[in-house]
Amino acid sequence: MIIPIRCFTCGRPIAHLWEKYVELVEEEGKSPKEALDELGIHRYCCRRMFLSHVDLLKESLPYTPPRLGLSR
Ligand SMILES: [Zn+2]
Repeated sequence: MIIPIRCFTCGRPIAHLWEKYVELVEEEGKSPKEALDELGIHRYCCRRMFLSHVDLLKESLPYTPPRLGLSR
């Protein structure tokens, strides 16, 4: 889904860095290692949060039920 707000192991906030990470890897063509080093993510517990994350939010949004009470 969306990347967790904090690292599961050490608790460092990481979610605010996700969009910059994606931009560095997909648009600027950097390797994940270079992107994580540039963002200052040095602990391997935090690095695995980025390397293992699969962003499925856009794929799952069409299947979410409509909110109750929301006019269509
Ligand atoms: Zn961590």
